[in-house]
Amino acid sequence: MEKILIVDDSAVQAAQLKGILTDEYDVSVAQTAEDGLRRASSESYSLILLDVVMPGMDGFTLLKKLQEEIITQNVPVILITSLSDVENEQYGLVLGAVDYITKPFHAPIVKARVNTHIKLYNYRRQVEQQSMTDQLTGIANRRRYERYSIAKWHEAARLQVPFSICMFDIDKFKIYNDTFGHPAGDKVIAAVAKTVSARLQRGTDFFARYGGEEFVAISTGDSSEKFFAHLKKIRQAVEALHIPHDPSVSKWVTISAGGVTALPTMESTYASYLKIADTMLYDAKKHGRNQVVWADERMQQLWEKPSRA
Ligand code: GH3
Ligand code: MG
Ligand code: MG
Repeated sequence: MEKILIVDDSAVQAAQLKGILTDEYDVSVAQTAEDGLRRASSESYSLILLDVVMPGMDGFTLLKKLQEEIITQNVPVILITSLSDVENEQYGLVLGAVDYITKPFHAPIVKARVNTHIKLYNYRRQVEQQSMTDQLTGIANRRRYERYSIAKWHEAARLQVPFSICMFDIDKFKIYNDTFGHPAGDKVIAAVAKTVSARLQRGTDFFARYGGEEFVAISTGDSSEKFFAHLKKIRQAVEALHIPHDPSVSKWVTISAGGVTALPTMESTYASYLKIADTMLYDAKKHGRNQVVWADERMQQLWEKPSRA
């Protein structure tokens, strides 16, 4: 059931609205703007019904605050106003409320407006989701990665937590396509993405298709040693899929990975670390492929297969 939040200091009015919507929605009530803000930031609502006139923080102030927060800024807000309240209505719409309903409530109109805005909200979320997802693999696409990486970098710099970037690339994939055909190649890309993605599922992990047969992972919190160890297992898991490669290349399809773990500083940039990851990947390729090469916090190289280094 979709969740709706009513923010209204009048218990009678809130109960009336709740009564109208409770058959179709999971409705919660906050009696102050402060409580409304708290709830809206900690749970995901599909719609907020907001009374304009409240003691303490009023509806307009709450509306502004909701729009400043990333979690709440896209949730549609419908204002509750009195019939005569044309000025408030206008002001609320300018501030970004999607609609208003007037007191006294007419149940069918309230329902119709609420249904419409929830439908629009869901449609928009679906479109946004699709525009951020890679079609072939179902994982995050380049666009989502571009947004996530920069935001996460700044967050890690602010919180001073270790930040890791890893680039992955399927080994000798051009030959795979030449031998088995492009559609078969697509299946391999999807299988590799699924295998890696399944092992990067913590809240602090992010995994995206960077382009072609290249992927990128971002993770925060772990030391280089820990993340490097995890990536070796991921690399092995791809090899263990036992997807036959062209015999002139290798027995199975494999990946190479290169990355870096560091504590972001205000002077450094995300781009400079991405470049280090790229260099590590290049080294992994140059020294035999099917391995992980890492740059640790002191910019020392860690090799999965030191004999080849
Ligand atoms: P290396 O081990 O050095 O990475 O060799 P490689 O052949 O994998 O590298 P290269 O960058 O020369 O070629 C990458 C190939 O990946 C080229 C292209 O045929 C293939 N490729 C890129 N995107 C796709 C895709 O979406 N589907 C399929 N099937 N193949 C793709
Ligand atoms: Mg490549
Ligand atoms: Mg490749």
